[in-house]
Amino acid sequence: MKDTFKHRGMRNQLAELLVSKGIKDKKVLEAIRTIPRHLFMDSSFEDHAYQDKPFPIAADQTISQPYTVAFQTELLDLKAGQKVLEIGTGSGYQTAVLLHLKVKVYTIERQRELFKKTNLFFKKLGYRPKKFIFGDGYKGLPEEAPFDRILVTAGAPEVPKKLLGQLKIGGKLVIPVGEEDQEMLRITRKSDTEFAQEEFGTFRFVPLLENKN
Ligand code: SAH
Repeated sequence: MKDTFKHRGMRNQLAELLVSKGIKDKKVLEAIRTIPRHLFMDSSFEDHAYQDKPFPIAADQTISQPYTVAFQTELLDLKAGQKVLEIGTGSGYQTAVLLHLKVKVYTIERQRELFKKTNLFFKKLGYRPKKFIFGDGYKGLPEEAPFDRILVTAGAPEVPKKLLGQLKIGGKLVIPVGEEDQEMLRITRKSDTEFAQEEFGTFRFVPLLENKN
């Protein structure tokens, strides 16, 4: 598959749609206009890649809806050079959006099939997260902590305590929390022991699964 003039046109339209839905951050919108989402999906979905919808990827997972990707990225309030942990790499599309904002990305995926597929894809297209790890993001990545930002792209039954402990003071965790559908939370670490929580409405994600071992 290629990236063509037609795809770029569809991305511009998608970015306009996201503006109409309330996305304001110019850098996030530029990432949406730049990153070839259709290449992150099966070729059979190519014609639908710039609709504002989630689609199936491998291993019963989904590539998040562009609005959700833009919304979560906007909530992260990123500055170039920050250290960001992403949990739930999936197709790698959200990872590419983060990389476009010039942050250092550490990303974790627990489905082996998806991990292998997305790892090859990153190499082929030249996307370079600092680390791409096959494992359980529920535990975070203690050896690289603390992080400026942590982003969870799967629905968590509750806020994993270990992730809170891996935030810098002033750092932010963006995470959808809930079983059937999820409330989007942004949790800011105020001190060693204090956290402030903001709520941003209801979303629906595939579940964040914990490896019980
Ligand atoms: N940002 C991705 C979202 C994929 S869906 C995209 O837009 O393509 C969420 C992903 O989280 C799935 O790939 C799923 O396998 C992964 N996931 C679920 N639980 C996880 C865990 N405990 N650790 C790491 N990844 C997990």
